[in-house]
Amino acid sequence: MKALVLERVGELSLRDIDLPSDLGAGDVRIRLHTVGICGSDVHYYTHGRIGDFVVNAPMVLGHEASGTIIEVGTDVRGLKVGDRVCMEPGVPDLTSRASKLGLYNVDPNVTFWATPPVHGVLCPETVHPAAFTFRLPDNVTFAEGAMVEPFAVGMQAAKRAQISPGDTAVVMGAGTIGIMTALAALAGGCSKVLISDLSAEKLAIAGGYPGITGINIRETSLQEAVAQATEGWGADVIFECTGAQAAMHDLFRIVRPGGTVVFVGLPPEPVAIDISGATARECRMETVFRYANVFDRALDLIAAGKVDLKPLLSGTFAFEDSIAAFERAAEARPQDVKLQIRVDTESEAE
Ligand code: NAD
Ligand code: ZN
Repeated sequence: MKALVLERVGELSLRDIDLPSDLGAGDVRIRLHTVGICGSDVHYYTHGRIGDFVVNAPMVLGHEASGTIIEVGTDVRGLKVGDRVCMEPGVPDLTSRASKLGLYNVDPNVTFWATPPVHGVLCPETVHPAAFTFRLPDNVTFAEGAMVEPFAVGMQAAKRAQISPGDTAVVMGAGTIGIMTALAALAGGCSKVLISDLSAEKLAIAGGYPGITGINIRETSLQEAVAQATEGWGADVIFECTGAQAAMHDLFRIVRPGGTVVFVGLPPEPVAIDISGATARECRMETVFRYANVFDRALDLIAAGKVDLKPLLSGTFAFEDSIAAFERAAEARPQDVKLQIRVDTESEAE
């Protein structure tokens, strides 16, 4: 099967590779339609590793995917050939202790597409458990379906925040994950979201959504902006979506007493946070690792028109142009929120 293979750091090729194709009783076979490029795919391409995950052998990239079911295993119920679907890229061991506790996203034995040594899905076909495959509502496109994966991180953040109706939120960082988190926070009941960044382009995209106000920290102090928006009280929920040390200084100066800080960004190195500031406000602190049990809810919100991911699609490349797509992604243009690759060139369907 022809796939986009990361041969080693800095070297991609579009070539034939043998990929597992056995269909188990609980599996579905999917013809891929659209696959988004994630910051992690780009990081493996440019750096060859993320933390302890090191690319030591050729690996197919891609984990934000949608497609069409072309075969179902004998035990599969509720999905059929022809269904348009998107997939959760992480498959836990469902008998594990973490899964039994309802925390399948932190199962240490989870296998996750395009995380070494597991292949991703920038290829024509894949086999996946039906339990982690979700039918797209008719009014949700393949492009939107392939954006459910990054949106699911925002959904998990909103869930972990335990938002109350009317809460004011601050999202630090207007990257893809920050914007997804801001949208999930609004859908989850926040009345308004202030989002901070140093990039005017990113803030313009985020601020294009009703309910989201961009704060350019090159021009405006985030502390002052939050104080002004909350009559000096502080925001109910802060979502940290930068992973940057500089952002951590503000966290406990902008959260209200008794408020919540949700850590979404993953600092590459340990960072310092102001524990005294946190305790003085008796803040609740939460962490987010990917997501669990949110894909179906994300699709329901998109289908209901409560979340619109379409403005975040910055470019679509043909499968043959996958390497050019990755080169563009590696440029990290500030206007690019989400780049996608259309794998299925035959079907007309959107
Ligand atoms: P990104 O690089 O596109 O976005 C980060 C943004 O933060 C950039 O726009 C940058 O300009 C901005 N920024 C940097 N310093 C800032 C500061 N001091 N104040 C305000 N903004 C600042 O990355 P992304 O893809 O959006 O991911 C964001 C973070 O989330 C990363 O750390 C990533 O590793 C992490 N992440 C976590 C999970 C999870 O499961 N917890 C999943 C995916 C990504
Ligand atoms: Zn990702």
